[in-house]
Amino acid sequence: MKILVVNCGSSSVKYTLFEMETEKKIAWGIVECIGLAEAYYKRQSIGREEKKDSVKAADHTQAVELVIKELLDKENGSIQNIDEISVVGHRIVHGGDKFSKSVLVDKDVKAGLRECFSIAPLHTPAHYAGIEAVEKMLSGIPSVLVFDTAFHQTMPDYAYMYAIPYEYYEKDHIRRYGFHGTSHNYVSQRAAQMLGKPLNELKIITAHLGNGSSITAVENGKVIDTSMGFTPLQGVVMGTRCGDIDPAIIPYLIDVYPEYKDGNALNILMNKKSGLMGVSGLSGDMRTIVKAVAAGNKRAKLAFDMLCYSVKKYISAYFGVLNGIDALVFTAGIGENSPTVRERICANLSALGIEMDNVKNAEPSGEERVVSTPVSKVKIMIIPTNEELMIAREAKKILTNE
Ligand code: AMP
Repeated sequence: MKILVVNCGSSSVKYTLFEMETEKKIAWGIVECIGLAEAYYKRQSIGREEKKDSVKAADHTQAVELVIKELLDKENGSIQNIDEISVVGHRIVHGGDKFSKSVLVDKDVKAGLRECFSIAPLHTPAHYAGIEAVEKMLSGIPSVLVFDTAFHQTMPDYAYMYAIPYEYYEKDHIRRYGFHGTSHNYVSQRAAQMLGKPLNELKIITAHLGNGSSITAVENGKVIDTSMGFTPLQGVVMGTRCGDIDPAIIPYLIDVYPEYKDGNALNILMNKKSGLMGVSGLSGDMRTIVKAVAAGNKRAKLAFDMLCYSVKKYISAYFGVLNGIDALVFTAGIGENSPTVRERICANLSALGIEMDNVKNAEPSGEERVVSTPVSKVKIMIIPTNEELMIAREAKKILTNE
């Protein structure tokens, strides 16, 4: 069985074609800069060189057309007929409180998704365009939607509610939703497999640390709390996002700076100009920050310290929420690749039974591994995330009613 996973961003279409018997990737790529003159298509398939070309992709439909044509290409393609694709899995960033699990696309589901446009205006219309483009190009092939928010739908109300007047929850659905759910779900399942225990007997904290970061408390396979909120802005300090701040800073900025009367300018300030970027004045990229810290840059060090401290606070809070944990899992760009960040976060947590083996932690490896000391009560694990595979598995599950 072959499954195509599609991830439509506001100006990109990313895809992976899986062979599900082996769960291996057969072909993958991205069409970037959709709608712009500099649009390009980068792709690769198993056993072949990567190719990159400038392309004409005025919209998501044209981008999806390019992808399907490439997959079907006589010389370089990976399939001979579209019917070889059993189902298409779409990554959807925000399912609001409408979607608590993956669903097969039909007219009602599409109507429900349209109702989610206002809650994630950057992402959902692009996802929707992608779904329609796939329907057009792969007529008759079913599509499944897999939501980043779905895994977090098990949170209790006291964890997902904000203490603002209740009417805004009722009218505007303002509540914590949480994000990166597919990643938190994947790594918690892998952690259980690596520990050789059923997931429903484990307490795990998963730290997805990338450009965007979120920490999740998972008990018996169910999310109890997560650091991102109504939007992916809440929580820990991130690459260019501020994470938790005193909400009263917002009306203050609006009062003092006329340019912030426009809500969009404030959104840009908090989402694109804050975090590591805003504090260091240098970059939102952790690799640049780590290098600058080593070279003695004080503001880079402050930004680095703030990010690690904010993650440590969430881990400690969720340790209390769960009354202890079996495993702490690091994943995503920073979590998988930065020993310096992991070491700093785990330093001085021995009171919680979190003890890192700093030598193991520093060993370069792209593999899943345990980096805690043998006496550490909590297993510290590094697990590369695989959201695409998780989406493919979900699509298969829905299609086959597993
Ligand atoms: P992601 O959003 O998961 O792709 O993660 C992107 C983040 O991972 C960026 O901040 C990168 O700087 C960071 N990253 C990737 N590789 C490394 C590395 N070797 N050391 C430190 N940070 C890294």
